[in-house]
Amino acid sequence: MSAPRLHVRLDRIRHNASTLVGRLARHGIDVTGVTKATLGSPEVATAMLEAGVTRLGDSRIENIERLRGAGIEAPITLIRSPMPSQAARVVASADTSLNSDIQVIGALNNAAGSIGRCHGVVLMVELGDLREGLLPESVLDAARCTAELPNVRLVGLGANLACQSGTLPSDSNMVVLSDLASAVGPASGHHLVSGGNSASIEWALTGATGRVNDLRLGESILLGCEPSQRQPIVGLHLDAFTLTAEVIESSVKPTRPWGEQGETAFGPTVGACAVESPDAPQVIVALGRQDVDMDGIVAPRGTTIRGASSDHMVLEVTGGEVPPVGSDLSFPVVGYAALLRAMTSPFVGRAFLDLDGCHSWPSRPRHRR
Ligand SMILES: *Cc1c(COP(=O)(O)O)cnc(C)c1O
Repeated sequence: MSAPRLHVRLDRIRHNASTLVGRLARHGIDVTGVTKATLGSPEVATAMLEAGVTRLGDSRIENIERLRGAGIEAPITLIRSPMPSQAARVVASADTSLNSDIQVIGALNNAAGSIGRCHGVVLMVELGDLREGLLPESVLDAARCTAELPNVRLVGLGANLACQSGTLPSDSNMVVLSDLASAVGPASGHHLVSGGNSASIEWALTGATGRVNDLRLGESILLGCEPSQRQPIVGLHLDAFTLTAEVIESSVKPTRPWGEQGETAFGPTVGACAVESPDAPQVIVALGRQDVDMDGIVAPRGTTIRGASSDHMVLEVTGGEVPPVGSDLSFPVVGYAALLRAMTSPFVGRAFLDLDGCHSWPSRPRHRR
């Protein structure tokens, strides 16, 4: 198979998702499984659905169309405010979208009317992170306007934190969301109150969750990590994704560069050895910044990453055998940006593995591309 390639362990993703679904269920919270970091992979989406997520979420209509094209019929929410220019595609493929602008909701209403559908609208509330959301004082007006439109249905409220400014969920900002949910929806009604992303798990498991009954989870399911403190979540797999790349040069070289030095294409140099030291074995793998974010992968045992440019990654071999040209090196993917880029690069192949006895993959051709 081609290199570089990303190995995706679907059994580990399923385990992570079902663990989080179970823990949050005890607090009355459902999980929306977010697939955007996997480019809307139908394989990953299926693993999440098998694990019991209530619905899927993705930020790109292209990814949602891909999921639909693969035969996935579960409810899907577009988790970025729709572009008005894409309103027709949004109402055709997504059941619901997260919204923070009444004009966009108007465009959705028109688009839904023209195909005889009703589109679900979740109003996003700004709670201090200063990304998307209506200011709390304008939510009631927006809810009233939305309720007057014939082809959209107000299904609930939501909020997003810890993405733009790093504002963390707390009982004091989350109570604002719950109070607004009570003001907007019937007290007993089954109104969606989507409280946040993976950064809200800790709060949800320890705080007073109020009316929050949904979290939208991507990173925690995929990487087993809690984003706001970059802490592993106990009991989850951190190694669902590994990136494999091929060695294209294997040599022994001086550890100190020579000649006058300036900046590289990617800024100041790093990793150059300041003092004279003996020559060292090094390898180059055919992997670069066009394929992955170097800060989000871990060097294989016995190697240290010395640097990387667009297409080359240089590793010093510090222990064990020196990998020969043509051999493979595998890097666990631990960072969200690294996963996002590897999944998005057209140069990176993907191999899905499911080592869970009761689900042999690929036995579900319906979901394959
Ligand atoms: C990306 C995103 C999520 C998922 O975030 P994770 O940190 O990956 O769990 C949830 N909600 C919105 C609005 C998002 O953009």
